[in-house]
Amino acid sequence: MASIQQTPQGPVLVLKESALQQKGRDAQKNNIAAAKLVAELVRTSLGPRGMDKMLVDSLGDVTITNDGATILKEIDVQHPAAKMLVEIAKATDNEVGDGTTSAVIVAGALLENAEALINQEVHPTIIVDGYRKAAQKTIQLLEKLADKVDPTDKEILGKIARTSMQTKLVRKDSSGLSDMIVKAVLAVAEKTDDGYTVDIDDIKVEKKAGGSIKDTHLTKGIILDKEVVHSGMPKKITNAKIALINSALEIDKTEFDAKINISNPEQMKSFLDEENKMIKNMVDKVIASGANVLFCQKGIDDIAQHYLAKASILTVRRIKESDLTKLAKATGARIVTNLDDLFDKDLGSAENVEEIKIETDRWVFVEGCKHPKAVTILVRGGSQRVVDEVERSVHDALMVVKDVIENPMIVAGGGAPETYAATKLREWAKSLEGREQLAVEKFADSLEVIPITLAENAGMDPIDTLALLRSKQLKGSKWTGIDVMKGIVASMHSSDIFEPLSVKNQIISSATEAACMILRIDDVIAVTKSPGGPPPGGEGMGGMGVMGGMPQMDM
Ligand code: ADP
Ligand code: MG
Repeated sequence: MASIQQTPQGPVLVLKESALQQKGRDAQKNNIAAAKLVAELVRTSLGPRGMDKMLVDSLGDVTITNDGATILKEIDVQHPAAKMLVEIAKATDNEVGDGTTSAVIVAGALLENAEALINQEVHPTIIVDGYRKAAQKTIQLLEKLADKVDPTDKEILGKIARTSMQTKLVRKDSSGLSDMIVKAVLAVAEKTDDGYTVDIDDIKVEKKAGGSIKDTHLTKGIILDKEVVHSGMPKKITNAKIALINSALEIDKTEFDAKINISNPEQMKSFLDEENKMIKNMVDKVIASGANVLFCQKGIDDIAQHYLAKASILTVRRIKESDLTKLAKATGARIVTNLDDLFDKDLGSAENVEEIKIETDRWVFVEGCKHPKAVTILVRGGSQRVVDEVERSVHDALMVVKDVIENPMIVAGGGAPETYAATKLREWAKSLEGREQLAVEKFADSLEVIPITLAENAGMDPIDTLALLRSKQLKGSKWTGIDVMKGIVASMHSSDIFEPLSVKNQIISSATEAACMILRIDDVIAVTKSPGGPPPGGEGMGGMGVMGGMPQMDM
C-alpha cells in the first residue's frame, strides 16, 4: 500500500492501512477526467437550442430541466473533483443566478486544455499562474467592452430578462413574464448613495400547477398558501388592520400527566367554563387591539376560532415563519408573542385581504400593502413539472435583472464577449515571456468553448461559425455573436440578446477558481471511516467514476 514508506529505520506507516492514496500525474489525470465528464454532461443543455435533462430520483420523482445548477444538484455526484464543479455551479447560482451551465463548461475546457500542457511537461503551477493572470485580464477586457446603461430603464431590463429566459422552456412566454419580472424587481429595489440594491428575498415566488404559463401573475403584496380558518369568518376585508402573532391561541397543555377528579356535572361545567373564559379572554385582547385580520404562526383552538368568527376577524393559522416576517415587512405590523403586548400601534395595514380559490385550493392574498417593497409572483403552468421549471427560470430572470440594477453594465450574448476576449487575450499573450504565454493562449481557447457549444447545439458547424465570428469581430463589430435561433452570425443588437456583465465576470472567476484548485492537487488521500472494512470498490482508485467510488471520502 502506498501509505507505507520504507526508510533506513524500517517501514513507517503514516496513513491508516485502509487509506487509499493516489499521487502526482495519476491524481491529476483522474481529477481532470472526472471534471471533464461533468462538463460534458451539461454541455448539450447550453443555449436556446440546448436540450433538457430528465432526472429521476430514487423515489421515481422526475425533474425536467436544463438549468446547470439543478442538473448537478440532482445527480448527486460523488467524485471529489467533480463535486468541485457542482460547487461552482451553486456559487454562480447564488451570486448572480444565471450562467451556471457556462461556468461548468468553461471550467471543463480549462482543465482539458491544461491537460494538454501538462502532457507537454508544463508544470501545473505555471498553468495556474497563467490562468489566474488571464482571468484578471479577461475581466478587464470585458469591463471595457461593456455598455453602461440606466439601471431603471425598463426596456433594457426587459431584454436582459428575456435573454435569460430564451434558453428555457418558458421561451414562448418570455415577453409577458419579463415585463412582470422587471416590475417586481423595480418594486423592491432600494436607492442607495451610489446606486440601487435589491434584496431578492422581498420577492416571493409561489407556484401552483394548473392553468397555463400565461396565467402567472404579479401581486403587489403577499400571497399565502393557506385558507381562512373558519367558514363563519369574512372572506374579504378592505382597509385591513392586521395583527401578526407567533404564539398559539390555545390553552397550554401541561407537560406532566395531570389528573383532574370531577365528581359531579357542576364541576365539569365549571371546568369547561373556565377553559372557555381563558380562550375568550385571549380573543378579547385581539379584538381590543382593533384588528380585523389575524395571521397566526401557530395553532388556533376551535373555541377561539368561534369567537374570532363572531367578531368578524379574518384569521389564518399555521403561517410559515418566513412568511410572517415578510408580512411584517410589507404591512408594517410588529410580530407579537404575548397577547398582552398587542396594541393598535402594533397592527399593520393593507388595502385588501381576500381569500381566493385557485384550482382546488384556497389562498389568501394580502394586497395594497403600506410598504410596497414586498411582492409575490404566482407561477402557473400545465403541470407540476412545468411550474417547477418555470419557477427556476423566473429565479434566473429575477437575478439577472437584479444584477443589472445593482451593476448597470451589459454585454452581448451569443458568444460575442467570449470570442472578443479570446482574440484580445491571444494578442496580449504575445507580450508575456515563458510558458505562461502558453497557459494564457489555452485560457483564450477555453473561453471559445461557449460560442463553439452554442453553435454545436444549434446544429451549426462549430468551426466555420467560430471562424466567421472571429473575422467579423476583427473587422470591428465587437457585438457580433451567434444568433442561435436564426442560425446565423449577426449583431446581437438586432436580436436583443444582452446579458449582465456581472454574470460574465462570475463565470470567468468561478470557472478559473475551480480549475486552478483542481490543478493544484497532486495527492488524493481517501480515508475510509470504518476501520477494518474492505476498501471501497476493492480495485484501487483507478476505477473511480464520476458517480461511483470512494463514497466514504471525507470532503
Ligand atoms: P447558463 O446556465 O450558462 O445561463 P443557458 O442555457 O442559459 O446557460 O445559456 C446561456 C447562453 O446562451 C449565453 O451564452 C447566452 O448569451 C446564450 N443565448 C441566449 N439566448 C440566445 C440567442 N437567442 N441567441 C444566441 N445565444 C443566446
Ligand atoms: Mg441562462
